[in-house]
Amino acid sequence: MSFNHLGVFAPLLANLKKLDFVTPTAVQEKVIPSVLAGRDVLATAQTGSGKTAAFMLPLLQQLVTSGAKVQSNQIRCLVLVPTRELAEQIFQASQAFSKNLPVRLGVAYGGVSINPQMMRLRKGLDVLIATPGRLLDLVQQNAVNFYALNHLVFDEADRMLDLGFAQEINQLLRVFPRKKQTLLFSATLSDRVAELVKVLLQNPLKVAVNPINQAVNTVTQKIYTTDKKHKVDLFFYLLEQHAWQQAMIFVKTKKSAEKITGLLREKGLAVDSIHGDKPQAARLKALDSFKQGRVHYLVATDVAARGLDIAQMPVVVNMDLPVVAQDYVHRIGRTGRAGETGLAVSLVSADEVELLLAIEQLQGRNFNRLEEPGFIAEHRVPATDLRLGVKKKPKKPKVKTAIDDPHSRIHLGDAFNQTPKVKNVRSKPSFLSGSNKKK
Ligand code: AMP
Repeated sequence: MSFNHLGVFAPLLANLKKLDFVTPTAVQEKVIPSVLAGRDVLATAQTGSGKTAAFMLPLLQQLVTSGAKVQSNQIRCLVLVPTRELAEQIFQASQAFSKNLPVRLGVAYGGVSINPQMMRLRKGLDVLIATPGRLLDLVQQNAVNFYALNHLVFDEADRMLDLGFAQEINQLLRVFPRKKQTLLFSATLSDRVAELVKVLLQNPLKVAVNPINQAVNTVTQKIYTTDKKHKVDLFFYLLEQHAWQQAMIFVKTKKSAEKITGLLREKGLAVDSIHGDKPQAARLKALDSFKQGRVHYLVATDVAARGLDIAQMPVVVNMDLPVVAQDYVHRIGRTGRAGETGLAVSLVSADEVELLLAIEQLQGRNFNRLEEPGFIAEHRVPATDLRLGVKKKPKKPKVKTAIDDPHSRIHLGDAFNQTPKVKNVRSKPSFLSGSNKKK
């Protein structure tokens, strides 16, 4: 199968050749012909499966072949995404796909000045990639209208809802035109996404490229159990043992992101962080440095868990497990992308057993648990059973705990104990009423 067979036209084929896109991925194969035919699509595709091209190529083709001219402050195609990083990434990919094509693209997200975004919209755009909050700001400033909107994409729809964008989405749905083509992509499906699907899509093509809620099968997943206070030491031990040259390290809170970054830096490692408290410019710089290889370790909160595409990123470390099990799938999806192999290592302490169980249930399997001598948990992580839940009585430790790591003596203590704040959202009026409460 080739992109040509899927109906992709010559100007795009030329650009794909330059990008080395020879064979369409599964999601591209299934989605492109239907999008070209104007159908709505609901796709549950694994992260890293090539979904950006799956929606952007046929949309660009439609925009070019229809020949319509866009007027001031109008947009013809809108891609809504949950995070600034994802917006930037899709924008860059779309620019590469559309080289030499007569289309104007733009990107809009918060954390940076709105003025250049307004200026760019003044002449109208064929494609706007935006986060919901900033898009609403632009609507309120009359910088954008939706009279010419023909194509709408929701990317990472579940994430948008998890991040508390339900209210913004409701407001936007009221101003979008009724007649348009809508594509909804979600790496994982939840009940709330199903509600959104009901409101948004008409007779959609339903595509599930890989089993829903399954982690990428090119990623080897390893679970190390230890005590919370020994996680950092165990991490440094594993880092040295396995000589991880590049890794993305996920933590729960901004505070622990900063702490871990500091500890890695103290050891002379090239490290940066990416989390919600950092100005957008600093976040982009950190990501870029990591992608270019100037920075070898990137410490991140879940703001960075989805969508980011970092070529040949070999290792993801979960210093603590995410509160939402589906975020685990997204975190580990940062590695093993585009058919490469990857390793995801999670350090799990007893207090996280419920989170571990949720992840195991999501994947329909129990993980083997690994231990490293010297880091064996005093507070054993209770056994889990996919059907029965957490087995109440933890086993007594087999080996006496002895922390003998020569590499580090620093512990993060309670820094991992906090749960992230989820933005509160109004529940009415809403297609999601009752379900978008603060978690
Ligand atoms: P995505 O899931 O859209 O973020 O894509 C994941 C990665 O796969 C990106 O680096 C893409 O450039 C790459 N990719 C997507 N489709 C193809 C393809 N057909 N051939 C080669 N690489 C691809």
